[in-house]
Amino acid sequence: MLDVSRHFYSIEALKDIIDLLAYYKMNVFHWHMTDNEGWRLEMKKYPKLTSIGSWRKEIYGSKMYGQDSSLNWKDTYRYGGYYSQEEARELVAYAAERQITIVPEIEMPGHSGAVLAAYPQFSCSQLPQPVPNSALFNKYNPAPSPNQEYCAGNDSSFLFLQDVLREVMSIFPSPYIHIGGDEVDKTHWKQCARCQKRMQDERLADESELQSYFIKRIARFLETNDRKLIG
Ligand SMILES: [Zn+2]
Repeated sequence: MLDVSRHFYSIEALKDIIDLLAYYKMNVFHWHMTDNEGWRLEMKKYPKLTSIGSWRKEIYGSKMYGQDSSLNWKDTYRYGGYYSQEEARELVAYAAERQITIVPEIEMPGHSGAVLAAYPQFSCSQLPQPVPNSALFNKYNPAPSPNQEYCAGNDSSFLFLQDVLREVMSIFPSPYIHIGGDEVDKTHWKQCARCQKRMQDERLADESELQSYFIKRIARFLETNDRKLIG
């Protein structure tokens, strides 16, 4: 598994890693392509995922700061990047030639701060926010805690994710699609009228069951497309 959301790697570097996997006779590469700190795959239907969601502003005190020694503590710098669909297809083919399947990961319902910076209408508060930087949980970060979860009460969140997953499935032939699924902060869901209404309508006991509802709904969508959810 490689997380290219927090730390972006070029396609050339990924090919080197694929070569190493082949050398060690490993046959699956889990490509963690989205998280709070950046969205890394071109989506034709949602261009802001990459024009906005792939770029974050790093500040003093963050893990990814200080790699450029010309910076002083007042400077910020823009960190990011993404892969075109063509590049992703190229890597899938490169891996397949080496008997390696690439399992793509598109995180949900948490760890989605970058998406919600690009398309705030899918969060509970629907308020604009910057892409979280790698100082998300750092005491030097003056920004308020960002939205990280899709609104589970808004059907548009699911329609958006289905569109995204259709594009993902068109690139990756893997039988498994990874959806992350961990570490969902329930604070926003508890305060959201739409999420609370969903819980009532679906007779869900609490926000943990709402998380399960979210995952199961996406699992059913993947199954109707002959894919399996892994989380
Ligand atoms: Zn909500």
